[in-house]
Amino acid sequence: MLAILDNGYYYLTMSNTNTCTKLREVAIELGDCRSCQGCIDLNPDVFQWDEALDMPYVSRSEVTEDEVRDIMNACPEGCIVFVD
Ligand code: SF4
Repeated sequence: MLAILDNGYYYLTMSNTNTCTKLREVAIELGDCRSCQGCIDLNPDVFQWDEALDMPYVSRSEVTEDEVRDIMNACPEGCIVFVD
């Protein structure tokens, strides 16, 4: 990233281009969910288990792509999706 200082000097900052900090809205498409609880194992701060329904639910819907990338790839039914 290029930053320009008040004194007219500029500098380049090194950043990891693979890291995305933008918040996105995540959801679970429950129709295909097989209740394996993998999403809770990988992201317990994003997904929780509803004992009454015996299904996962999203406890924090605003996440970064980095936070949920692994479970989006690992969910056996592809239930974890972005809805924004
Ligand atoms: S990982 Fe996928 S299939 Fe398993 S409980 Fe979570 S949403 Fe359902």
